[in-house]
Amino acid sequence: MQDIKELTLEELKKALKNWGADEFRARQIFAWIYKKGAGDFMQMSDLPLDLRERLKENFYLFGLKLIQAFKSHDGTKKFLFALKDANSIEAVTIPTEKRITGCISTQAGCKFKCSFCASGALGFKRNLTSAEMLEEILFLKNNSPQKKTTHIVFMGIGEPLDNYINVMKAIRIINSRLGLNIGARRITISTNGIIPGIKRLSQEDLQIELSISLHAADEKTRARIMPINKIYPLKDLISTCREYIRKTNRQITFEYILIKGVNSDLQNARKLSTILKDLNCKVNLIPANTIKEYKIEPPKHSEVLVFKNLLLKQGINVTLRKPRGQDIEAACGQLRLRYEKK
Ligand code: SAH
Repeated sequence: MQDIKELTLEELKKALKNWGADEFRARQIFAWIYKKGAGDFMQMSDLPLDLRERLKENFYLFGLKLIQAFKSHDGTKKFLFALKDANSIEAVTIPTEKRITGCISTQAGCKFKCSFCASGALGFKRNLTSAEMLEEILFLKNNSPQKKTTHIVFMGIGEPLDNYINVMKAIRIINSRLGLNIGARRITISTNGIIPGIKRLSQEDLQIELSISLHAADEKTRARIMPINKIYPLKDLISTCREYIRKTNRQITFEYILIKGVNSDLQNARKLSTILKDLNCKVNLIPANTIKEYKIEPPKHSEVLVFKNLLLKQGINVTLRKPRGQDIEAACGQLRLRYEKK
């Protein structure tokens, strides 16, 4: 049995053709899955009964099992799912005034072991399939205000550019008019800085947003908190970003988690403004979510403001991200860590 969401529209058409069914049925099936949120094949009432039965014999529609759901007082909801092979992942829906953002995982576990992130703690299990990523979104959509998701961020567990092919396959369906129909500019990939992936992305004909998890402004600090920096050093990462911006004519967002005693003093702010000077970019400052296991804490609010003001004075476009869902441990991998350690 195969997950039907693994198929692109073209692949579905081909499967139908092999059965001797009309190809246009593929569009109807897509609409049932991605627009009408069908719960099973029998619900697809404009398909002939024998086709529905055949679909049911050969495909399944859903593979994730909800294990736990958490709701924050700020409206953020976090879900922990078991995959078919019993690995677990998390997805989060974050409603704000203007948007409903779905944050999804791309891998079960993570290889990259950033010191402030709970996702790497249990090691890497496997890549998610495009169908599993699409299902995260369908689930979030179904459990969001007005059953809507306006924006998607690939910022859950895992590294999207380390699962490039499946992530891009999912994005094509998220973006397609016949699929989830979410505009490319409303889709964000967040990466720890895998340079070949960034280069490859710059060649896609897709206007998606790119976020770089920078989190440090010098090689030594970055290598200490993000081991990936030993493979793709900061200096090369910044020049790759410069090239990406030139080629795509798009702005990049740099994420910078402020961690007390690690990267949050004035000297770090100065270094950051120096390396980002002249780049068409935005900086998103994120006071770290406390992770007791890792002794990670945010700096005092006054220190956060000093950091932000220095960047502003240097002419850098900077925003301070409001922490969301802290009471439900919504930061990357925290919930799963708690669950799988039990
Ligand atoms: N691997 C990708 C995507 C997953 S991590 C990447 O590195 O970008 C994405 C984001 O998780 C980070 O940029 C950060 O915003 C968030 N994150 C992880 N640990 C956190 C913590 N302790 N506090 C706040 N945010 C955290």
